[in-house]
Amino acid sequence: MNSADSSQPNGFEPELGGIWRQKGVFVDENICIGCKHCTHVATNTFYIEPEYGRARVFNQDGDIEELIEEARDTCPVNCIHWLDYTELKQMEDARRNQVIQSLAIPPAMRRSQISPKSRSK
Ligand code: SF4
Repeated sequence: MNSADSSQPNGFEPELGGIWRQKGVFVDENICIGCKHCTHVATNTFYIEPEYGRARVFNQDGDIEELIEEARDTCPVNCIHWLDYTELKQMEDARRNQVIQSLAIPPAMRRSQISPKSRSK
């Protein structure tokens, strides 16, 4: 490594100038309609959870951010959100006890568990 290289980030840790994402992706399964678009785009990030038939993230580091953004763009009901990791942990914990409402209820009438602040991310 020459002296020019030493001024460049040498890892993924953001505090050292690296490029690790400081947010995670989360599907609001109360809103998801199970269309599978996201699972076809970011195949290493999303899968269809078999019990409720909604998309879920199984790997935060499976795809590059651009591909996850493309998956978000394909979502017809805008239920894929970026959350900071503290909020992501809270949402994943809350999801463990949730009972998903029927897909027969229109998305606009379903209860969302995502706060309005998070929706703008
Ligand atoms: S694209 Fe949206 S609605 Fe379709 S499965 Fe993925 S999260 Fe659900």
